Amino acid sequence: MSPPVKESNPQPVIVGRGEHPVSRSMISEPALKVLYRLKNTGHQAFLVGGAVRDLLLGIQPKDFDIATDATPDQVHELFRNSRLIGRRFRLAHVRFGREIIEVATFRGDSNAPDVDNRKRDDTGRILRDNVYGDIDDDVWRRDFTVNALYYNIADFSIWDYVGGVDDVRDKTLKLIGDPVTRYQEDPVRMLRAVRFAAKLGFTIDKASEQPLYELGHLLDNVPPARLADEAIKLFLAGHASTTFELLRRYDLIKVMYAQTAEFLRASDNEKEADRAVELFRAATSNTDLRIAEDKPVTPAFLIAVFLWPVVRMHTEYFRKEGKGPIQSVILACEYVMHEQQSSMAVPRRVMLPIKEMLTMQIRLRHRRGVRALRLLEHPRFRAAYDLLLLRAQVGEEPEELAEWWTTVQTKSNAEQRDMVGMGKAKSASDTTRKPRRRRRRKKPDA
Ligand code: ATP
Ligand code: MG
Repeated sequence: MSPPVKESNPQPVIVGRGEHPVSRSMISEPALKVLYRLKNTGHQAFLVGGAVRDLLLGIQPKDFDIATDATPDQVHELFRNSRLIGRRFRLAHVRFGREIIEVATFRGDSNAPDVDNRKRDDTGRILRDNVYGDIDDDVWRRDFTVNALYYNIADFSIWDYVGGVDDVRDKTLKLIGDPVTRYQEDPVRMLRAVRFAAKLGFTIDKASEQPLYELGHLLDNVPPARLADEAIKLFLAGHASTTFELLRRYDLIKVMYAQTAEFLRASDNEKEADRAVELFRAATSNTDLRIAEDKPVTPAFLIAVFLWPVVRMHTEYFRKEGKGPIQSVILACEYVMHEQQSSMAVPRRVMLPIKEMLTMQIRLRHRRGVRALRLLEHPRFRAAYDLLLLRAQVGEEPEELAEWWTTVQTKSNAEQRDMVGMGKAKSASDTTRKPRRRRRRKKPDA
């Protein structure tokens, strides 16, 4: 295994300002401010990465990243509103209101032997990389050619060392260097390949695609928290549905949801597995639609959806052991969420909402009495109801149950009480019935 090779004496193709569509009007005010202050204090300053790629494609970038020859400490001195972050990679974050501009110092030659400031583990994964260099060193550590384009604020040209401009035009994702090595260095790049393919509608180049089928297990070594960050980006970027299909194609679901992947694989429940896939398709399309309509989305919802079929299966086990329906689903949730932490850590803040959404799937089967009314008031009702709708859509619950919950939300308080059997009409008829005899409590030692 050899590390990615920096070409000897690499020369960039420089695409002049008149020959590409990127203009300053497309770059955010804060990003321009940072670029200009760096330039005006004698530093090189480039817009880099996804922003250049997206601007070439005519997409509004999600964020603006900057690369410079100034060291993190120098950047920190230039911007009072900055702070230094990161251990694995040291970076400066410059904050302007809600926008954060990430400023990274050119990273050094990745061919240099491991020194104090660069560490790999025994699978080749880079643990720390804080050796600084020039732009022609920096380019080789980037993942895809289309992510390695530099827009120079000094003359508005684009510097391309790796054929990235052509690959943007051809809509191709190509890793820089030897793909297997690059995935070994940082297995998260496999998920990034899927994310960009889904987001940009790009094709993954054959050589970069092949290892995706084989190297999924390397993601086991990635800290569960980093995996969680990446998973959230994967599913909340507006292309969850395509992302899901690609993850299935490369058998990468198991990396994030080991129990779910196992459930889908198990041969004795093929029908259930098909229905689960249908549920995931419905949920991911639904999420994409919400994002397209600018409606809020939370990571909790899709995590709950991906875990639901497993929770449901365990609920049935507990039922068979003689536990009550609610107790069973609570126990199943505890079990599944606990197991989940070892594949992809579920962020703490969404743990409780997920458990509530999942246990409510069983509670929502009961439409009588004050308990049903209370569910309507529950802070997680809306999300749980949305999941119920999807489950009914794929035939897991009767449509009629979902419709009942749809209707009850549109009613007045009095009508709702009627619907759950607590209305006046009901209690009037009750009076004609013989009063029920109060059951006497058994004495504990009787
Ligand atoms: P987007 O912001 O649209 O998600 P992006 O390409 O800007 O996409 P970021 O995560 O913001 O992605 O990273 C910025 C740049 O840093 C990338 O374009 C790439 O050049 C580099 N980069 C990020 N993560 C990695 C990685 N794991 N390996 C190599 N290079 C990376
Ligand atoms: Mg970015």
